Amino acid sequence: MSIESVFTYGAPALKFGDGASDEIGYDLAQLGATRALVITDPRVAATGLPERVAAQMAQFGVQAVVFDGVHIEPSDASMQAAIDWARANGPWDALVAVGGGSSIDTAKAVNLLLTNPGELIDYVNAPVGGGLAPVRPLHPLVAVPTTTGTGAESTTICVLDVLAQRVKSGISHQRLRPTLAVVDPALTLSQPAGVTAAAGMDILCHALESYTARPYDSIERKAPEQRVPYCGANPISDMWSEKALTLLAAHFRRAVADGDDLGARRGMAMAATFAGLGFGNAGVHIPHANAYPIAGQVRDFRPAGYPDDEPLVPHGMAVSLTAPESFRFTFAAAPERHLRAAGLLDPDAAERGDAGALPRALISLMRDIALPDGVAAVGFGPADVDELVSGALKQQRLLATAPLPVAAEDLAGIFERSMSLW
Ligand SMILES: [Zn+2]
Repeated sequence: MSIESVFTYGAPALKFGDGASDEIGYDLAQLGATRALVITDPRVAATGLPERVAAQMAQFGVQAVVFDGVHIEPSDASMQAAIDWARANGPWDALVAVGGGSSIDTAKAVNLLLTNPGELIDYVNAPVGGGLAPVRPLHPLVAVPTTTGTGAESTTICVLDVLAQRVKSGISHQRLRPTLAVVDPALTLSQPAGVTAAAGMDILCHALESYTARPYDSIERKAPEQRVPYCGANPISDMWSEKALTLLAAHFRRAVADGDDLGARRGMAMAATFAGLGFGNAGVHIPHANAYPIAGQVRDFRPAGYPDDEPLVPHGMAVSLTAPESFRFTFAAAPERHLRAAGLLDPDAAERGDAGALPRALISLMRDIALPDGVAAVGFGPADVDELVSGALKQQRLLATAPLPVAAEDLAGIFERSMSLW
């Protein structure tokens, strides 16, 4: 086979810093917008922030209307409701997403269906959906994350539950990437410690998984029309991932211990942004694949800091629980990369230079920030391993980004050893 020699890099324009969200009206006017749809969820709407963002746009000649019906962990049905509302109340020439990954992903889907023909399921990744690519450009989308971590403001994907098939899937295309990401650390000050801990583990795993992803030049060469946004570890994504790890080492424990520490909040917002710019091009692998069934098969776990109206394993928590054992498994594929990452995160843990370096660094951190002790601590037991493995195996797009082949028995071993971590 001929080996790949090309990698790609894509990113939104970025505005970062305290007060950055006060300038969105100006930025939209520069993009030529006159009527913007502001998309958010009820909890963020209750803070008044989306209304403030909408009101501020008027002085720049942009009329803004708030839709606050986003569902956390969106489904095809909840996205369709948002699309229907947007179609009935248009026309729009710009979108603004204010909130966590759910709001930003819903805005991506609404934007896609306001500008392109067909139905939502036509664009969902095959084989769940039709796997179509958008044929027309989308409206400008400004993404304003209020939860640190998801990276949704930088990426080309939108994740959703497809209810009829009981599966989580996604839509992925370059045109879905936000036009502008506005990252304002002051918006994260009210985030509870439990949310900061889980979201921070998501940031950390974005950086670690993209840094240890299969290198772009180890795969078969693609034709131009076959290129996907995620091309494997490459020199540019490596740079973002390394810097994100350095920022996390300095700020993560502090941000959880004292949510009012604005310096630590800024450091975490920057780490989230940098990790998003890395994994948004390289991709993520085993811990993220395992997170789908952990979150999807939850029974009655209710984490501190989250609304307790339904059982939930938050995304970042679900990702983190098998991360130590996933990186013990992938160590042999690239020992020097695993040791370098562990050294950036926790030099003491990396000292012995063995496969346990990164697991030790992760476990020490997870204990300090009060994450659950493994998959058993969120309600699973050895009898659940087969179902968890079959759920992870459905995420072939992610598993293909791992630095070595991943078989069902490898995943079973990772889940078994992740029942209790310390
Ligand atoms: Zn993630």
